[in-house]
Amino acid sequence: MRRVSIFGATGSIGQNTLDLIRRDRDSYDIVALTGGRNVAQLAQDAREFGADIAVTAFDDALPDLRDALADSGAEAAAGSAAILEAADRPVDWIMSAIIGAAGLEPGMRALRHGATLALANKESLVCAGPLLMAEAKKHGARIMPVDSEHSAVFQGLIGEDHDTVEKVTITASGGAFRKTPLNVLKDVTPDQAMRHPNWSMGARITIDSASMFNKALELIETKEFFGFESNQIDAILHPESIVHAMVSFHDGGVMAHMGAPDMRHAIGFALNWPERRDLPVTALDLLEIGQLNFEPLDETRWPAIRLGRAVMKAGGLTGAAFNAAKERAMDGFIARDIRFTDMAPVVEDVLNQMSVEFRLSSAEITLDSVGEIDQMARIRAEEAIRART
Ligand code: NDP
Repeated sequence: MRRVSIFGATGSIGQNTLDLIRRDRDSYDIVALTGGRNVAQLAQDAREFGADIAVTAFDDALPDLRDALADSGAEAAAGSAAILEAADRPVDWIMSAIIGAAGLEPGMRALRHGATLALANKESLVCAGPLLMAEAKKHGARIMPVDSEHSAVFQGLIGEDHDTVEKVTITASGGAFRKTPLNVLKDVTPDQAMRHPNWSMGARITIDSASMFNKALELIETKEFFGFESNQIDAILHPESIVHAMVSFHDGGVMAHMGAPDMRHAIGFALNWPERRDLPVTALDLLEIGQLNFEPLDETRWPAIRLGRAVMKAGGLTGAAFNAAKERAMDGFIARDIRFTDMAPVVEDVLNQMSVEFRLSSAEITLDSVGEIDQMARIRAEEAIRART
């Protein structure tokens, strides 16, 4: 039996992971499940899967979790220290699917035990890629990509020499506002931004897809995960979300990874690697799809892409500032303090202020320095939001 923990179990990736595990229940021993506000789901899953411990991120949710787990045999705990304690429990495989920068430290802790870290939490790599990769190396732990684009690149590189790679191209669907007239974008609402044409995902990543901040994070994630130079990495528009990424080689060959837009493929690939097993994913029928389209990404419509490319080049702690400012700007948009089109300018303001002041691109990356820059970027983003309201 493989011992498994799922961080962010109540979210979209967490639930898809449990869906796969449920289909092969006897092969897994569930150690820890963590969640946030959705205590009912967390307790239900902890009972169903016989988890040793269930942890909510929020202290005030502990009484409800305790009540819901009474007589279940599962421990109940709360708070970020409890999440880290759960990450210290040895397992063979751990899903990192907490949303945002909060996912970094639990993932770092899990690597110390040599667990395979299935990494959906792209923010970890954006904020502290070199630190995370070094920690994995130090402890002989493997990190498996879960983002569909990065799973696709990983699969395209199997058996290949990285030196033979010319470039890597990830695709973007265009999100909710691909065709929305530019002059209307300033008036779109959070509810509209949460409607993705192809993928079913959590609310925040869906908004990030509409603004293209998600693709900006993924450009940085590609660099940090695979170690290619920034000029070897690109993103293009592909509205059908069938080709997830392409790896182009010096000899002119291109390995394109295709599949239906269903996260259970990438999650299942990370769960089963190095084997391939049956997964409940719709078979791809290219004749039914008929045609696949590709276009360059329009940086006027999606300024986040321009920022993401610059952050990818800059490196250091620039990603930590970028991500934190982006998370705060999105909170501002969800609260309707700023417009959809204000998010990128807010993030750019923060980067302009902090890049030189904190020498972000050359600063040392430690958990402490990432935390400090994260906090400062949120304060600066808050100020930039206030200046616009
Ligand atoms: P969701 O918002 O659906 O779920 C997030 C999870 O994190 C939930 O379990 C939530 O708990 C928990 N959570 C929220 N806040 C905190 C906190 N402060 N501390 C600890 N846990 C917290 O997100 P997704 O599943 O969509 O995304 C998860 C990660 O995977 C993100 O990094 C995203 O970028 C990445 N990803 C997602 C994809 C997708 O298809 N959804 C695709 C590729 C990558 P609760 O809900 O109980 O409050």
